Amino acid sequence: MRTLWNIGLCAVCRHVKVVKSAKGSAFVLCTLAKTNPRFKKYPSLPVIECIGYEGKNLSDEKTD
Ligand code: SF4
Repeated sequence: MRTLWNIGLCAVCRHVKVVKSAKGSAFVLCTLAKTNPRFKKYPSLPVIECIGYEGKNLSDEKTD
């Protein structure tokens, strides 16, 4: 099972979207891939370096 720590930069990037399958698996999707072919839709993890990385504003995170 992957955790925030072993997916690398995507864990704290504003361009990430976590997609869950019907079977409960979770996939890391890079939303930059929609508009820029330099990015893979599903990046190889962990991502250690990335020119598209932009940090999330953690104060915008929902706390349910
Ligand atoms: S821009 Fe880079 S760090 Fe951000 S989600 Fe995409 S692959 Fe991950």
